[in-house]
Amino acid sequence: MSDCINDDTVYVMDLKGLENILIDMDGVLLDTVYDNFFWQKHIPLKYAELNEMSEDQAIKITHTLFNYKRGCKDWYDLDYWSNMLKIDIEQEKLSSDMIDRIKLKDGAIEFLENYHKNKNLFLVTNAHRKTLDIKMKKIPLTKYFKMVICSHELKYIKEEISFWFILRNKLGIDYEKSLLIEDTIDNVKSAYHAGLKSIIIGDFTPNFKNTPSFKDLSSFSSSLK
Ligand SMILES: [Mg+2]
Repeated sequence: MSDCINDDTVYVMDLKGLENILIDMDGVLLDTVYDNFFWQKHIPLKYAELNEMSEDQAIKITHTLFNYKRGCKDWYDLDYWSNMLKIDIEQEKLSSDMIDRIKLKDGAIEFLENYHKNKNLFLVTNAHRKTLDIKMKKIPLTKYFKMVICSHELKYIKEEISFWFILRNKLGIDYEKSLLIEDTIDNVKSAYHAGLKSIIIGDFTPNFKNTPSFKDLSSFSSSLK
């Protein structure tokens, strides 16, 4: 990847020389409205019903449990939460009103269409395989990727530096010729320490080693030469 030129607010980049693009799913290809609603509203409501308590009480309990596990492997594990909350999480996710909330982010399809033929695209997600399958059933994207990786199947999550070394060996790729597209700054940091550069997708201005950020893949695409 050539260096970014920071022309006040506009980054100009090109992807020449890159062989591999590693792309996150939630927050990059798919928006996070579905996940936020599911975990912050739907599951507490279900928990309140099952345990005959007020919604406020259920929100307090479930959100405390979630916060405790945020950024840990268990956080992404549907089976862990099914056991912990005594709710069949997969079944809840499959309910039609939940499925309908899964949506693409702007520019996702266009980006995949543009690059899947001349770059090796890898989907690299912390999502549990069951969550991935549900989402890919609603919005089939796997055809664009050379390989789809659920981090926990490699025994680590993206927040951990070890994950990126194990991933590099698994994919057999050179990180010098690779780019990660990610919306979680902790994952950008751990990838960086394993030698993998990123661009960040999100509505914020992160301050990490001059890593460029873009609102979505649409604005990233329009910045490319
Ligand atoms: Mg993400």
